[in-house]
Amino acid sequence: MDINSVFEKVKYFIIDMDGTFYLDGTLIDGALDFLDRVHACGKDFCFFTNNSSNNVAVCREKLAKMGCEVTEDKIVISSHVTADYLNRQRQGKTVYLLGNERLTADFQAAGIKLVDKDPDIVVLGFDTTLTYQKLWDACRFLANGAEYIATHPDRNCPTADGFMPDTGSMMAMIEASTGRRPLVMGKPHHYTVDYLTHTLGCESRELCFIGDRLETDILIGQKHDIPSVLVLTGVTDEKTYRESPIRASAVEASLKTLAKHL
Ligand SMILES: [Mg+2]
Repeated sequence: MDINSVFEKVKYFIIDMDGTFYLDGTLIDGALDFLDRVHACGKDFCFFTNNSSNNVAVCREKLAKMGCEVTEDKIVISSHVTADYLNRQRQGKTVYLLGNERLTADFQAAGIKLVDKDPDIVVLGFDTTLTYQKLWDACRFLANGAEYIATHPDRNCPTADGFMPDTGSMMAMIEASTGRRPLVMGKPHHYTVDYLTHTLGCESRELCFIGDRLETDILIGQKHDIPSVLVLTGVTDEKTYRESPIRASAVEASLKTLAKHL
């Protein structure tokens, strides 16, 4: 397919952050110009990250330090998808949350009823304050039949010096103990598509996901018939892409080269 025709119907570019827009605390060359180009051609964007250990304020501050000022509504996190799902589909249910203080505060602000005992639902986020006691409690609640939801499936989170074990790794540990697997909300799952189309007021075909990770940023497009662009500035190189069954609508060296097609 001609690459320019991929973008004709797109209203919102959904841009991954780490490895796509910045790397190790520095904006990737052409990232800011890409946002200008998106607006210049009458389209819009938002950032979407699966990383539920961060909140909007942290993401905005990080971007601002690199010279990119955006409004709050431009940052969407898997925790928003999860809180929205709980409020719309599981109204009034009690939740035991595995999450850090930022995720906890976001859930409280969204009006979700958090409890320490006998919850209806266990929600697993990227809990950077996970303890053995929390893990044990969560496994006991799940063994007793609580529903199980996770914010996102990433196994590792990239950092400047390697990676941190992420929510997907915690899911594996909980599954080893309980045999339970969660409903997963973030990229590549349809809950994220539902949330974005609902909040942005558009059709799924009017979205275009841009990212560096095949199993999340690109698979969400492939699974839901939504355009996607793989950029080679992060975790995926050309060889990995060639050998993967996951297909993007387009592959670009970076946001800089992608901007030329808009
Ligand atoms: Mg990324």
